[in-house]
Amino acid sequence: MSQLTGQLTLSFDSDETEISVIREVEVIRDRDCTIDTPILHGYRPEPIYGKGVELYPTVPGRTDTPHMMKYYLNNLDPLETYDYFFVLFSGGKDSVASVLNLLELGVPRDKIILLHHDIDGGSEKKMDWPATKAYCIAFAAAFGLEIRFSFREGGFWGEVYRYGSKQPVQFQDADGSMKRIEPQAWARSQELKEMMHRAELEDNMELFKKYDEELRSYGYRFKFPAKKADLSARYCSGVLKIEVGSVAIAHQVDTQKDCKIMVLSGERRGESTNRSNYNMMELHRTHAPTRNKRIVHHFRNVIDFSEKDVWEVLKRNRVVPHACYLVGWGRASCACCIFSSPSHFAGIKELLPAYYENIRQSEIELQFTLDNNKSIDEFVGNAKSCVVHSEKKAIYQLLTGDIKAEDIILPNGVEWTYPAGAFRQGTGGPC
Ligand code: SF4
Repeated sequence: MSQLTGQLTLSFDSDETEISVIREVEVIRDRDCTIDTPILHGYRPEPIYGKGVELYPTVPGRTDTPHMMKYYLNNLDPLETYDYFFVLFSGGKDSVASVLNLLELGVPRDKIILLHHDIDGGSEKKMDWPATKAYCIAFAAAFGLEIRFSFREGGFWGEVYRYGSKQPVQFQDADGSMKRIEPQAWARSQELKEMMHRAELEDNMELFKKYDEELRSYGYRFKFPAKKADLSARYCSGVLKIEVGSVAIAHQVDTQKDCKIMVLSGERRGESTNRSNYNMMELHRTHAPTRNKRIVHHFRNVIDFSEKDVWEVLKRNRVVPHACYLVGWGRASCACCIFSSPSHFAGIKELLPAYYENIRQSEIELQFTLDNNKSIDEFVGNAKSCVVHSEKKAIYQLLTGDIKAEDIILPNGVEWTYPAGAFRQGTGGPC
């Protein structure tokens, strides 16, 4: 069997030297990436599917903590040995590049399944772009790929106002039906809420307090996620994406026993110091070789790509990105991502005033601001909206979700150009 290896080539600034020394990895950070940055990893790869090629990471996997030891994986087996390839597909450019890379490596379409987590979880109060789900469906249709959806009931706002257990997760199974998995404490939490209601009606405050205490022991938030890398503080990524994805992968009827899966996701080292330290390949948290005979390997196949490399993959495949990039956003994270800049929140205020108002009202209700120190109005101040008003079709698509498969691949003769949001950094969250 042959081996594939690679090498990264540029370096961090001095403030992040420690990371680069520890990992011996040099990365083009997004904030330094421009349209003139040379392409390093974004070239078309060799189609290696079916050729017995093992894949090795550009930087060896970490073994510096018991946690990292647990997930350590030396290499990936030849692609043809995997039964399914689940791509965690947000619809952002990096997840699009991850899918296109997989196709260019020669993986058959019928083995690839896109998994999209709906951040709003069917709730009336929204956080994500109206266009995101439609873009994901249209992309899957344009490339002849299967897509399955999953979400945590109540979505982002349900978690902000959480009182008791986390809400159940719903996911689409192989036959298209929706399945529902309740967390362990869910039934008891529901029971406690009813008992509290009765105690309140009976004016039995002692009992009410007792139930309240137990309910809070299962979880209580009433605050926004923190703008931190730590997933327990920035709980939205973990609760609404990572955990939902794991439930969806572990419970699909076709992945419960005796199968070998590759999970792919589009994180890149250049996005943040935290991500620069991620493993390119490791065991996935749903790996259960003994109990379920389920092998699950996680491959971050574009982790070394710069932003320029990612756009190169889309350009070569003539893919039109999510409309938010054309309208001026640098990332297709949640529309109201907690990490958004003032000019992007000014853009939300302009395009999706109800979303903006939700944040404003919740800050008053919760007595807790989304920013560390300022209310949303103070945070935005006089910032100029990032919206590129000349992009009329993209604005329409962004707000209506009216996107079809034929909108995804540019017709021949139409030149592919960088969207307005390309190379505009710091404009969205880390997931
Ligand atoms: S995109 Fe932003 S708001 Fe959405 S889950 Fe990620 S960090 Fe949270």
